[in-house]
Amino acid sequence: DAAINRIAAGEVVERPASAVKELVENAIDAGATRIGIDIADGGKTLIRVSDDGCGIAADDLPLALSRHATSKIDGSDLLNIHTFGFRGEALPSLAAVGRLTITSRVPGADAASLKVSGGRMGQVTPAALGIGTAVELRELFFATPARLKFMRSDRAEAQAVTDVVKRLAMAEPSTGFVLRDVSGGGEGRIVFRADPEPGDLFGAMHRRLDRVIGQDFADNALRIDTVRDGIRLFGYAALPTYSRGAAVAQYLFVNGRPVRDKMLFGALRAAYSDVLPRDRHPVAALFIDCDPTLVDVNVHPAKSEVRFRDPGIARGLIVSALRHALAEHGH
Ligand code: ADP
Ligand code: MG
Repeated sequence: DAAINRIAAGEVVERPASAVKELVENAIDAGATRIGIDIADGGKTLIRVSDDGCGIAADDLPLALSRHATSKIDGSDLLNIHTFGFRGEALPSLAAVGRLTITSRVPGADAASLKVSGGRMGQVTPAALGIGTAVELRELFFATPARLKFMRSDRAEAQAVTDVVKRLAMAEPSTGFVLRDVSGGGEGRIVFRADPEPGDLFGAMHRRLDRVIGQDFADNALRIDTVRDGIRLFGYAALPTYSRGAAVAQYLFVNGRPVRDKMLFGALRAAYSDVLPRDRHPVAALFIDCDPTLVDVNVHPAKSEVRFRDPGIARGLIVSALRHALAEHGH
């Protein structure tokens, strides 16, 4: 029922940035090597995510747009931890809050397209596209004026979209990303671009840091790579001299997923507490990998909080590894 769909959708899609997150995660799950994100008016009037991933067969398009249909649960009904999606909620939720068109092509077949507007699904029609998928979402929240009011300025929403894209780009160095603002029509303006980084993990990560955080960071970062109690912490943390006036450039990932978690941000702050004044914020890109049973990364579908079975272990690992690395460099 359309009303129930809209209520559920509000949980997943709060603003353009959350729609972009779901669509880019789907593209990553599809094995894309290049992902294009176009937005107009902060994503309020248009979001378009195109990928060169595996595509969706024409016959499966209606299924992809149906609630709780996912191709990402394995035979034992367990979440495939190597993919982002698992609830099968994103596409139907997006279709409930905007006008959605999905166009896709799998190898050896013609492209096909399917539109959903106001909760009504159209017919699958022939289309033109290279192998991969393009999802277009127009007029976000047109049917829910109450939500429209809560959106911020185009500029603020575009900033939030950029942040989401950068976090996912940091998580996936081997994938290329181009974020364009097409508000004025035409080719638009490139807001963020990162080409696929080949090579070993740390090399690729380090070059991707250049794109995401900036050249100075890569030059001023300490390499972290340590394991304790079954948890691996790796990535880069900047020297105190490269701190910021706001906590903006802190990129944290748990099992490959970008997270914004108070406990982890707190641990990062604590690690630098002896070497940074309270009004300065460390810059870091840190990955925590552990057995998926030790952490719940799906506390809330849209918010990126995590719940460790033993939060003390993760916190202690971050604080001690960073303090140790800083001390080795004379801080
Ligand atoms: P989930 O990601 O949780 O499975 P979604 O609603 O986001 O749920 O997507 C539903 C299904 O549609 C996916 O399981 C996948 O099979 C298919 N799909 C969505 N986006 C893409 C894409 N960009 N490329 C290929 N398949 C996709
Ligand atoms: Mg998904």
